[in-house]
Amino acid sequence: MPPVKHALLGASAASRWLACTPSARLCEDIQDSGSQYAAEGTLAHELAELKVRKMFTVMAKSAYTKALNKIKKDPLYDSEMDRVTDSYLDYIKDCAMQFDSKPFVACEVNVNFSGYVPEGFGTADCVMIGGTTMRVVDFKYGKGVPVTAEENPQMKLYAIGALVQYAMLYHIDRVILTIAQLRLGEPDEWETTPDALIQWAAEYVKPRAELAYKGGGEPQPGEHCRFCKAKAQCRARAEDNLAAAQAFSSRADTSSPVDARLLTYPEIGRALERAKPFIKWFKDIEEYALQSALEGKEIPGWKVVEGRSRRQFDNTDTVFEELQAAGIDGALLYERKPIALTGIEELLGKKAFENLCGSHVVKSAGKPALVPEGDRRKPFNSAVADFEGLQEE
Ligand code: SF4
Repeated sequence: MPPVKHALLGASAASRWLACTPSARLCEDIQDSGSQYAAEGTLAHELAELKVRKMFTVMAKSAYTKALNKIKKDPLYDSEMDRVTDSYLDYIKDCAMQFDSKPFVACEVNVNFSGYVPEGFGTADCVMIGGTTMRVVDFKYGKGVPVTAEENPQMKLYAIGALVQYAMLYHIDRVILTIAQLRLGEPDEWETTPDALIQWAAEYVKPRAELAYKGGGEPQPGEHCRFCKAKAQCRARAEDNLAAAQAFSSRADTSSPVDARLLTYPEIGRALERAKPFIKWFKDIEEYALQSALEGKEIPGWKVVEGRSRRQFDNTDTVFEELQAAGIDGALLYERKPIALTGIEELLGKKAFENLCGSHVVKSAGKPALVPEGDRRKPFNSAVADFEGLQEE
């Protein structure tokens, strides 16, 4: 894969720079440390693209095998990646089958939406056009943050870029956007029209993108901060979190009928609501401070010490050989453990697993978890959990 070029106002970061226009320039010179998850995602994308290309374009078997073997040699490759990219290919095939005739299918399409966003470009994982319908699909391998397709700015910008590219060749009046985050569930689709997309881009995106390009506007802390490279150092985010903590203490509810020194349930609800972003912010600055201190920066009042260390053998095989040579029974040195259900499913494949073990699979009650009221899951019912068992979390 060629090196990835990042636009200042890239589609994948649109939810952030549209909400907080100065963030684009503020992040510009901050190094992205990268992560294993990002590298894993890149490899999974490569595999997904390869499978879709093999299915929808002319590709020599030897070229496919060579590319596949290269991916499989990567230490980040595993059977889950293979399974998830197979599901992605199945979804793309399902989409293609829904057209009356064979659709046009393109992978890794470079889309340009610079008519609305200065220097705006991005890469759409799959664009499919048939009849007057265009589908734009984004494959997401991460499973940390669920992403939905409805009104998703990244997808809408990809669609605008694809419309610009293909509108001369096809008459499109229906656009379906999909986020295929298949490790978290079924693909999520949302339908819109070219007119609605263009109106959004012209009236909402263009002025904000121009402001963002100049670095203008006021910082706006919010959910989107988690994807900002300035999230640990940002003063606006720090002030917002600290002000929220202060506001909580100044809004003490002294009307408690029990004891005004104890928090009421509404106060606990409010504290939980504010604590979540506060904890995220705190972890971000803690991690940033540790990294800076390790790089030799001085954080007044703080120092780095060595954490608790764990004893371990330098070479387990040698130690075990020596123990057995000294007369210790080998059986005493090993534990025999059953592998987990998902491990067996991976070992056998879905079909054989269903045939051999399907009748023994039960779903135990999930552990109760406290979530905001707007969460889509049904409220926990302890009576149902006691007597019938609940869906796995
Ligand atoms: S951390 Fe949040 S408020 Fe600060 S610049 Fe980034 S997105 Fe804006």
